[in-house]
Amino acid sequence: MGSTNQTNLPALATNPKAIFFTDFDGTITLQDTNDYMTDNLGFGYPQRRSNMDDVLDGKRTFADAFKEMLDSVKTPFDECLRVLKDNIKLDPAFKEFFDWCRANNVPVVVLSGGMQPVIRTLLAHLVGDEAVKHMQIVSSDVAPSPGHTDINEEGGWTIAYHDESEHGHDKSLEIRPYAALKERPVMFYAGDGVSDLSAAKETDLLFARAGRDLVIYCEREKVPFTVFHSFSDIHKIVQSVVEGKQTVQEAATGRN
Ligand SMILES: [Mg+2]
Repeated sequence: MGSTNQTNLPALATNPKAIFFTDFDGTITLQDTNDYMTDNLGFGYPQRRSNMDDVLDGKRTFADAFKEMLDSVKTPFDECLRVLKDNIKLDPAFKEFFDWCRANNVPVVVLSGGMQPVIRTLLAHLVGDEAVKHMQIVSSDVAPSPGHTDINEEGGWTIAYHDESEHGHDKSLEIRPYAALKERPVMFYAGDGVSDLSAAKETDLLFARAGRDLVIYCEREKVPFTVFHSFSDIHKIVQSVVEGKQTVQEAATGRN
């Protein structure tokens, strides 16, 4: 890939010993924000399930089924943000972990197929506005829907995908340039779902949320991982690897 400069790889700017990549929905949050909106403000769970079954059966792409799900939500976008802020719980241990990362020069990079303003709003709620400004968030965005100019009116918004991949966001694209460097920081990844698997394969240690699909995929695909129940589990391991007390190989204990 030739020489890669730091402008392309913002997480290298401070010459860190480690980088922490993480999914957002179901990983930092305890519920999925897009599912929540669809089930409570849009066409509801049975139709969402049927859309996702079509994806599993190979009848349509995830990007297409997911967009239709969100387009069923006609609630103005600012109102959606309010509803999510009131109802979605974040992993309470994320804040302490994030504060530790900032104090110890471990960049946290959020990789999400969800919408940027949702992620920033919920994170700001947990870790504060100022801290969120320093966080790199690579995700999809929100845009006015066809025929509208204001996302805060009824039916006024739609998802604007990050890229053209069938998932709407290929997370491994973001990580691969770092993974290709000859000398590079230790790379961690935390996730909970199938869209995290391609990204996880590029990193040194994967944390998979206990009881979620990613655990099964990792076992099936023989990707080394360790489960986490909350960000305090992640905190302990990342800290001990960064401090040289254990290796990533030792930390990859699977379900144990
Ligand atoms: Mg997720």
